[in-house]
Amino acid sequence: MEQIAANLAAVRGRIDAACIAAGRAPGSVRLLPVSKTRPAADVLAAHAGGCTRFGENKAQEGLAKARELAAVPGLEWVMIGHLQSNKARLVARFAAEFQALDSLALAAELDRRLQAEGRQLDVLIQVNSSGEASKSGLSPDGVVGFARALTPFDALRVRGLMTLALPSSDPTLVSACFDRVVDAQRRLRDAAVEGQRYDDLSMGMSGDFELAIAHGATEVRIGTAIFGART
Ligand SMILES: *Cc1c(COP(=O)(O)O)cnc(C)c1O
Repeated sequence: MEQIAANLAAVRGRIDAACIAAGRAPGSVRLLPVSKTRPAADVLAAHAGGCTRFGENKAQEGLAKARELAAVPGLEWVMIGHLQSNKARLVARFAAEFQALDSLALAAELDRRLQAEGRQLDVLIQVNSSGEASKSGLSPDGVVGFARALTPFDALRVRGLMTLALPSSDPTLVSACFDRVVDAQRRLRDAAVEGQRYDDLSMGMSGDFELAIAHGATEVRIGTAIFGART
């Protein structure tokens, strides 16, 4: 518990320092603590430290935690992981945002389930910025066409882009990933599909968030540096 509070303070300090180093206002980057695999008690510890939005990558686990913590006012759940269409129903029920939209079939299924729930959902389009075959997401060149194809799904509110950079110790390679996403954002803004906004850039994790902030991230998704190593 105390460890989580101390880690949170340290991460916030590093985010502010990275903002200042990049000539950006501290507070212009949102912290999304990633609570996947961690128990509800850890979420409560971070909540006590001022966090209200939490990232989860599995629909069932996220829904279970949302239910367990239903009495805590103001908690929001953000789904950050690849989603199979058959789990769209769960996400439509409890998530405030979905950051890994990468297929029209999934968009259609999410929209159908959201319409049934009478809800809307903020979504980020996931970009495969590293070119790794193992990573989900649209190729940077496919993002504008994909965004245009999302217009029929009016329960989905497009808000920006999400990416996972190459897991590399070479900052040049990692930076190139972030730059590809910023470039895709610029092309989206030129295309300006009606009803969509592209301000949110969710990029940067425990190992690379300072670099992501230097490249324009508006939200960093941080698990290990707050909650410790996952087993
Ligand atoms: C687990 C996860 C994170 C957090 O990773 P850490 O390295 O633990 O900070 C961020 N984004 C996604 C999509 C994840 O699955």
